[in-house]
Amino acid sequence: MPLVSMRQLLDEAAKGGYGVGAFNVNDMEQIQAIMMAAKETKSPVIVQASRGARQFAEDLYLFRLIQAAAELNPDIPIAMHQDHGNSFETCKSAIALGYTSVMMDGSLKEDGKTPSSFEENVDVTRRVVDYAHERGVTVEGEIGVLGGVEDGHGAGGSGLDHITDPDQAVEFAERTGVDALAIAIGTSHGAYKFTKKPDGSVLKMDVLIAIHKRLPNTHLVMHGSSSVPKDLQDIVNQYGGKLKETWGVPVEEIQLGIRNGVRKINVDTDNRLAITGAIRKVLWTQPEKFDPRDYMKPAREAMKKVVAARMTEFGQAGHAGDYKPIAITDIAKGYADGSLTTQPLVAAK
Ligand SMILES: [Zn+2]
Repeated sequence: MPLVSMRQLLDEAAKGGYGVGAFNVNDMEQIQAIMMAAKETKSPVIVQASRGARQFAEDLYLFRLIQAAAELNPDIPIAMHQDHGNSFETCKSAIALGYTSVMMDGSLKEDGKTPSSFEENVDVTRRVVDYAHERGVTVEGEIGVLGGVEDGHGAGGSGLDHITDPDQAVEFAERTGVDALAIAIGTSHGAYKFTKKPDGSVLKMDVLIAIHKRLPNTHLVMHGSSSVPKDLQDIVNQYGGKLKETWGVPVEEIQLGIRNGVRKINVDTDNRLAITGAIRKVLWTQPEKFDPRDYMKPAREAMKKVVAARMTEFGQAGHAGDYKPIAITDIAKGYADGSLTTQPLVAAK
């Protein structure tokens, strides 16, 4: 089937009360791993590419691979999403390629490092929403600033420096008309998220719940939400890796989020760890091997396992066939005639 609107995927997820994993890709094997997992678990899925991924793979290679994934998997709804667009131009170029969703991360200036002002964020996000919706493309915005750095994007810090303010989240959703909203509740990008197992005092789940209460129909997005499981770290280190001990976001916390309006969950690090562990194991235990397929195949299989597990844990498994994809041109009409609302429902404090 053609690539579908992320808005539709998330609207359906809200109806069904589940979350949808958004998995980052840079190459064919990662795309194949995601599609193998989606097929096995019958899951709708969001595939996303960062600016770094688009540069690494070259736009056209990457996008044609996604088109192949869609063609080869007619029963799986796939949304293709630009992760952390840093400017109107970046989002525009993704839309020109055929991405069905873009993130305009206006929480940072165009350098992808310096936190921006609230007004700057509203302005650039609103511009992207106007442009994208005319073309049926979904927009994710971000309010508050996430921690860490990934693919050269991020403000750094612990993730607790710029926690989202619920009042600002309401104003931002009202003034921009975004379809999905990434919020900062203490998560960080990259492998080194927490130095101990995070509990309620580390992750600000109370902030998430407060935002969901005020914006009950807004699709919330959790970034930096790899769980960084110990067994994946161990495989890397067992075969010569040197990862320092670290903790990610426990799956139970993500599931609590899903019960409170989280519809999109970004996962990248777990897949990177699974791939690296599998490759290390082959090269370490069978040093005579030199055919890349000898380690890329187990790497792809290891990533598939992680993705399938997340799809089951997030609840998207089994929902691939629940609905008929709406053509992007009809989504555009929906935005234009107001049947796809961009004004959030706002509840009193
Ligand atoms: Zn992110």
